This record gives sequence, structure tokens and C-alpha cells, in this order.
Amino acid sequence: MTTRATTTRYRVEAFHTPSPDRLVHLDDHVITVADGAIVSVQARRDDPEPVDVDLVGDHVVLPGFVDTHVHAPQWPQLGTGLDLPLEEWLGKHTFPLEARYVDLGFARTVWQDLVATLLAHGTTTAAYFATRHPEATVELGRVCAELGQRGLVGRVAMDHPEMTPPDLRDAGADEAVQLSAEVNLELDALGSLVTPVITPRFVPACTDALLSGLGELAAATGVRIQTHCSESDWEHEHVATRFGRSDTECLEVFGLLRQHTILAHGDHMADGDLRRAALAGAGVAHCPRSNMLFANAVFGVRRARELDLRVGLGTDIAGGDQPGVASQMSLAVAVSQMLEDGVDRSVSPGRRGRPGSRIGVVEAFFLATAGGADLVGLPVGVFEPGRRFDALAVRVEAGGTGRASSGLRFWDGVDDEPARRFDKVVRLAGPADLAHVWVDGVRRAGTAGSAAA
Ligand SMILES: [Zn+2]
Repeated sequence: MTTRATTTRYRVEAFHTPSPDRLVHLDDHVITVADGAIVSVQARRDDPEPVDVDLVGDHVVLPGFVDTHVHAPQWPQLGTGLDLPLEEWLGKHTFPLEARYVDLGFARTVWQDLVATLLAHGTTTAAYFATRHPEATVELGRVCAELGQRGLVGRVAMDHPEMTPPDLRDAGADEAVQLSAEVNLELDALGSLVTPVITPRFVPACTDALLSGLGELAAATGVRIQTHCSESDWEHEHVATRFGRSDTECLEVFGLLRQHTILAHGDHMADGDLRRAALAGAGVAHCPRSNMLFANAVFGVRRARELDLRVGLGTDIAGGDQPGVASQMSLAVAVSQMLEDGVDRSVSPGRRGRPGSRIGVVEAFFLATAGGADLVGLPVGVFEPGRRFDALAVRVEAGGTGRASSGLRFWDGVDDEPARRFDKVVRLAGPADLAHVWVDGVRRAGTAGSAAA
């Protein structure tokens, strides 16, 4: 007996970026989705059969956003305490909050609020650092599965006796590796939306034994890795002093630099580090807002891409104070311009910045969609057959009649060029503009009534 696939046909005007410098405008196309997978993308004139959902005229459809770096337990501290340097911020604000997730009820309340909010912001995939606690970590995966968000979820391993508080410290390296292995198996059983990730918090918080044990676990199981790398002057120097190596070299020595390893931040990676990471198939979660607050530097996206490094965008909740990836796109463009130009007028223009650093909106959008998908290693981010249908429908309104809750308008005779409309969507679209958010072909959020697909 065969089961007939559930098929939905969407008529759309869409944008996507199969490569960093190539914006594709699908002006009137039909995307056919069967059981969550895209089976065809065709021009309407070549595919005149009836559609189920017609969005042409008042919506622009985009691939869903991939947030490659989120600290789930820091959700209740979003927007506070950001005046301290990283090492003080962790001790004063973050560790005391993270210790509370031994309480599963508290964890579940936070996870439900976080996942629902990120979905409403168009985050269809998120790479989460959960907490040290196994039960709360598995619960985060369960909430992702229930609410329908693609979640990469990791139990945060940390055991260093001097660099971690007692209530957030794994009892020892062997036990920590064992706990992570057990949690990975439980997460793996939660269905296709949930992917386990081996998650050493960062090198300073882990003993050598834990780092090598987690490297062996990755080699034995093939489970992906996420961690922080060269985030700030303090973190970079801490690793250099302890090991006489860069953070990137150190991760490689411990077997943690692998295909799809997500390195958060990477601001202080030198060219040699970028090459080393690229060769391993790893990449960087670029968090522009967090760079501005904590990193003492801005990650050079353009240079990293020149060296063939995978790069995605991250909010770094709550080291970044904004919940959605959309705002990170325009920030990524802005910080790249600041890196190129420099910011101190007392330095001569020729020496003020770093030439060749700026990126444009197309590349920023690539990072938020296809680039992020490539970094985390999931088949989303582009509208092509074989990928899963994770998508957003942005409602657009004509100038003069738009809603006051949004600045997004297309003016007749002004915004007729597709590239101009794309520019506006990237820089202006917020959650109020997202009429529909689909994950794996299922509508999971959006401001429109539930009647539409
Ligand atoms: Zn982080």
C-alpha cells in the first residue's frame, strides 16, 4: 500500500540567493511542496495548473531565516546588563540565570516563549546552546518539535574548576561526555526537526580532558559541534596563554574542528585560523550586534568568504539584544562598512579602516538564509527541488496605505525595480510584516488569519 503525499502548490513572487553574489527574483512562480519537500519551482506560464495558495501581488516570499547562534537560557535576560565586558557579564548575569534551569518547569516556560517568539520573527532554524542540565536540554528539543521549529540543540558541557561556578559545573570530564552522549541520543529520537549538537561552551570553561573527550565523541558519532571561538580580546588571549595556540588551532588539536562545526563570533581569528577552519569544513556564526557590544572587534565577513569559509548570521541571544535574524542582516552590512571606513576621525582616512571589508544586502541575505543553512548542514535556505520548504511570506503594502506598525512600503513608480524592493524587504521587514511562516511545509507562525494555508 502506498500513501499519497500531501501536496501544496504556492504561487509566489519570491527572492532567494543560491550563492553569495547572486540574487534570484522569481517574479511569478509556482513552488510545489510534497510532504515538506520542494518538488518543483516553475514559472507560472510553464505550470498553469491550479494552485492552493496564491500570494502574488501582496506578498514577497523568502526562505526562512537560520539563526546560527542562540543561548536559549539567556532569553529572560534579553536587553539587560550589556554594559559589562564578556567575562564579567557571564559571572554577574548569565551564570546565575542559567543555574535556574535545573527547574524543568521554569525551563519549559522559557523554551515555549522563546521558540514561539523566534518563529514569529521568521527564524525557521535555530542553533541553540541549551544549558548544562540534561533534562532541560532534551525539553528544548521537545518544544522545538512541538512548535515546529528546526532546532539544533546542544547540552552545554563545562567542567573547568576555576572558570565555571559550582552549580553549573559538570562533575568531571568522563561524566560530562557521557551525559552529552545520552542527551544526543534522546534529542535524535525527537523527529526530523531536531538535531543534536556537541556543545563545549568555550575553551576557557573546559578542561583538556573534556575537550578531547568531546572530540572523540564527535568522531565516533558524527554529531555536529558548536562552540565559541576567538570571541573577544579576553577569550582569545586566555586560550593563547593557556595553550600557546590560537583558539582555532586548539579546537583542531582536540578534534573539535570538523565539517559543519559552528564557531560563534570568530572576530579575532587570523587569516591562518580562517583557512584552517575552512579546510575543516567549519564556519563562523557572525553576530554583528553582539560584536558591537562584546567582541572588541568586528568579524571580517568579506575576508572570511574570500578564504572560502562558511558563514551564517546569529543573534547571540542574549549577548545580542534583538530576537530576530532580520535586523542582523542590515547590521551586518552596517558593521562591515564601519570596519572598512573606520570610526575614529583623528586617524587619517588612509589608515582609519580596513579596505575591502564591506558587504551588501544580497550577501547579508545569503548569510541569513543559504549561508546559514550551509554552515549548519541542513537542506533549507534556497528554493530548489530536494530542499525542505522553510519559508516566509512578507506582506507588502502600497505607499500611502500601509500599516503604521511597519515602515515597509512599495511606492508605485518608485519601487518598481525588483532589486529595490528586495533592499527594502531586507532592511525593513519585521515580525509585523510576516503573514506566514512555514517550517517543513507546515504553517507555524504569522500575522495573517489561520485560513491561509
Ligand atoms: Zn554565544
